[in-house]
Amino acid sequence: QIVYLNGDFLPIEEARVPVLDRGFIFGDGVYEVVPVYGGRPFRWAQHLARLERSLAKVGIANPLDTAGWTTLVDMLVARHPWPDQFVYMQVTRGVARRDHAFPKGVAPTVFAMTSEFPPVAPALLASGVSAISLPDERWLHCDIKSTSLLGNVMARQKAVEAGAAECVMFRDGFLTEGSASNIWVVRKGTVFGPPRDNLVLEGIRYGLMAELCERAGLPMELRRIVHAEVLAADELLLTSATKEVLAITELDGKPVGSGKPGPIWNRLHEAYQQARTA
Ligand code: PMP
Repeated sequence: QIVYLNGDFLPIEEARVPVLDRGFIFGDGVYEVVPVYGGRPFRWAQHLARLERSLAKVGIANPLDTAGWTTLVDMLVARHPWPDQFVYMQVTRGVARRDHAFPKGVAPTVFAMTSEFPPVAPALLASGVSAISLPDERWLHCDIKSTSLLGNVMARQKAVEAGAAECVMFRDGFLTEGSASNIWVVRKGTVFGPPRDNLVLEGIRYGLMAELCERAGLPMELRRIVHAEVLAADELLLTSATKEVLAITELDGKPVGSGKPGPIWNRLHEAYQQARTA
């Protein structure tokens, strides 16, 4: 496996970052995960735009321009044999003596790697996944795709320890998102999602979901969603770059709707597969 680090392509075992990198010391960095189908990054412009927004929000200068990022990712992908991959890109504030305030005159650390993206397991498609409800205990800048993921990590671990695949988080009683996914509620044929604000990471699948719903003739609405509405959902869905769109068929040990992936999930999943290859 070849990775990119600060201008070089090298074997992952040889890639080294100094211990004073602020990504290591403070989690002071941002990242992106981009699916690549048939060698082509999917929704590349949107992922790059989100990376730029994350960088701007934390005050790290974008180390590369659009052409630079595009070439980097193309070169990385071309060095691996897998037809489908997902690329991880990370920018940290760089290496400096430990002090909370931003250092001056420090170059960001730029890292990227790619992994094989195997098809989502047929068993997951057939039966859906289970989730648990959790209070959202993260900070108030969840719109930034920060590498500071301790809140997300703790939440996912609670889900795993409960035998579930993901959590569905609530802040002040309102649905936010999963530990690494956006959550959608289907009720009477309409797809509902939480507003795009500072309390969720706006997944690239937010925009995609709107397109897929339109194509499938399904109304979609973004608004605040209370816990009771999630419990009463006909279907519950999660989306992410690596999970695409999955049905959550069990929440807190109880079946969601019929307890099986529902017809709306089916239509959206099909539309997703078409969009992937379009
Ligand atoms: N929310 C969180 C917290 C995430 O980590 C992810 C995965 N990147 C998402 C939502 C979904 O975003 P996307 O559709 O861009 O993968």
